[in-house]
Amino acid sequence: MAEYIDDLRDIQFVLYEQLGVEKLCEFEKYGEFNKEVFDMVLEQGLKLAKEEIAPLNEVADRVGAKFEAGAVSLPKEFQGPYKTYCEGGWIGVSSDPEWGGQGLPSVVGMAASEFFTGACLAFIMTPSLTHGAAEMFEAFASDELKNQYVEKMYTGQWAGTMCLTEPQAGSMVGDVKTTAVKDGDVYKITGTKIFISSGDHDLTENIIHGVLARTPDAPPGIKGISLFLVPKVRVNADGSLGESNDVTCGNIEHKMGINGSATCTLNFGDEGNCIGYLVGEENKGIVYMFQMMNGARIGVGLQGCALASAAYQQALAYAKDRIQGVDIRSMKDPNAPRVAIIDHPDVRRMLLFGKSVTEATRALLMKTAYYADLAEVTQDDAERENAAGYVDLFTPLCKSYSTEMGFEVCIQAMQVLGGYGYCQEYPVEQYARDSKIGSIYEGTNGIQAMDLIGRKLGMKGGMLYMNFLNDLNAFIEANQSEEKLGQYVKELAAAKDALAEVSEIFMTKSMSGDALFPVSYAMPYLNSFSEVTCSWILLEQALIAQKKLDEICADKGASDPEAIKALTEENDEAKYYAGKVSSMKFFVTQILPNVLARTASVKTEDTTVLDAVL
Ligand SMILES: Cc1cc2nc3c(=O)[nH]c(=O)nc-3n(C[C@H](O)[C@H](O)[C@H](O)COP(=O)(O)OP(=O)(O)OC[C@H]3O[C@@H](n4cnc5c(N)ncnc54)[C@H](O)[C@@H]3O)c2cc1C
Repeated sequence: MAEYIDDLRDIQFVLYEQLGVEKLCEFEKYGEFNKEVFDMVLEQGLKLAKEEIAPLNEVADRVGAKFEAGAVSLPKEFQGPYKTYCEGGWIGVSSDPEWGGQGLPSVVGMAASEFFTGACLAFIMTPSLTHGAAEMFEAFASDELKNQYVEKMYTGQWAGTMCLTEPQAGSMVGDVKTTAVKDGDVYKITGTKIFISSGDHDLTENIIHGVLARTPDAPPGIKGISLFLVPKVRVNADGSLGESNDVTCGNIEHKMGINGSATCTLNFGDEGNCIGYLVGEENKGIVYMFQMMNGARIGVGLQGCALASAAYQQALAYAKDRIQGVDIRSMKDPNAPRVAIIDHPDVRRMLLFGKSVTEATRALLMKTAYYADLAEVTQDDAERENAAGYVDLFTPLCKSYSTEMGFEVCIQAMQVLGGYGYCQEYPVEQYARDSKIGSIYEGTNGIQAMDLIGRKLGMKGGMLYMNFLNDLNAFIEANQSEEKLGQYVKELAAAKDALAEVSEIFMTKSMSGDALFPVSYAMPYLNSFSEVTCSWILLEQALIAQKKLDEICADKGASDPEAIKALTEENDEAKYYAGKVSSMKFFVTQILPNVLARTASVKTEDTTVLDAVL
């Protein structure tokens, strides 16, 4: 069984050296915490991930969820680690202590979550969904409902789900047909939901579903959707469990990956006896869902990054070990020594692709989570608005780019392993299969791209986008003459100008009534936006890393290139910082130029996508 290989060092770099998350402890909400506590959380999270969760990954895939006699069972090996996970308070690690949470900043929770997700995505689905549903109830349900349900969910005694999708309502959530008819103080729910993750399982005694449904006189579309809390088993006034609530599992899907996560068809009210409790007000369900979506979408982005990181680390370890071929410069010498494949330029290219994409998306995700924390605690209105704006703007990038590229990293990692990359002996092919779902659920990546151009760019009169450009311009201005890395900042400036050019074209087209043209280029635009943002973030990192590397070199008396190279081979910190600079250089020179190519494509104003006969 292959081990999960983490990247704690890079997570620590983002947390402390780039973001300086300790600053959050100056605010009252996080006043009881400090760096030592954060370090302890990471250490415990990593221990749990490696010792208890990672060993589940193979059984999750090979045994998977089973549907028999109308009920779902998960591999029996899940039971113990689930208990440990709940007892450790991990479901509510960044939730309000008043409701059973640990109250840590979400950026710290995210750091630990990368370990759990990389160790076994299928296992972590149930606690993650429970957290999302509990958070939604905590924010919008009545005190009575909160008192009855939320703490039991954060502590993992009861699990949770999000039930949106129906056969005719996938991307178009507004088309849900499930009905909710008022019956005294409660509602009778009738309908079928499909693809519901953790919709049924045997980890908990109860499952609390967050269900989108429509009341009889609700207006059509998303404005007529309400949110209901629907328990699998009814809960008595004293908190004990009562009778079954007429929620049944009709089947589970047989999938490409995350086989240890049950993807269920759920039937509500087949016997006319399913009770739901209204959360908040009627017809506001979609507003509540939207408010929770940033968190859930960033969470799915993290899945892309976590599996990419795990796959890259496997590929790196394999490439250092696997001996094959000779140095290209000695190709004609049959007696030349055989080398490890990490010495071959093409393998190095694939590895650097994985390293730079993983580090870029990790930093993008953690920065966005940090902004979410900051927006919650700062007393400064301008700072709050700025931070909240970045969360809105970056969420589609986090979700889409991290999952799109995360999958690609897994595929490249398979390639590094050659034949074994395709075989189950190594976990990389499973990482690839498990990671594919990230681009599909929680709003497909195509829907994210439409969200970026249709909602986020114009939000608050275009202020989010203008702030982004202003901050980026200020960064470029401040760093383009930097001695060692200034040339890369100039590459970023050129890509930023190209992105801004496309934004202008989209705006002109939209204002002249042509909505189709921008939409047909929405996905390439999202990728360009992500690559400009990731390059900016990697440059921020590289500037910090280069300075630290220079300090180490000065301290150790390494001044010429050979001495510096030797130092980076024997000194772990020097090696890490040098690697960090390399990640930026690779991303900026080999990935960022895609922005220029996509811009050229938009500027042709070609409409084949719209006109082609298919
Ligand atoms: C393993 C798994 C777990 C899931 N878990 C959950 C869950 O827990 N809860 C839940 O409610 N749902 C869940 N889903 C459902 C998931 O969110 C949907 O599959 C997803 O939203 C896409 O909907 P769809 O499958 O109907 O595809 P469709 O909406 O039919 O989309 C098919 C393609 O068309 C594109 N498309 C559709 N409409 C538009 C449009 N208007 N503009 C541009 N492109 C469009 C999409 O981007 C996609 O590429 C899960 C699905 C899977 C496979």
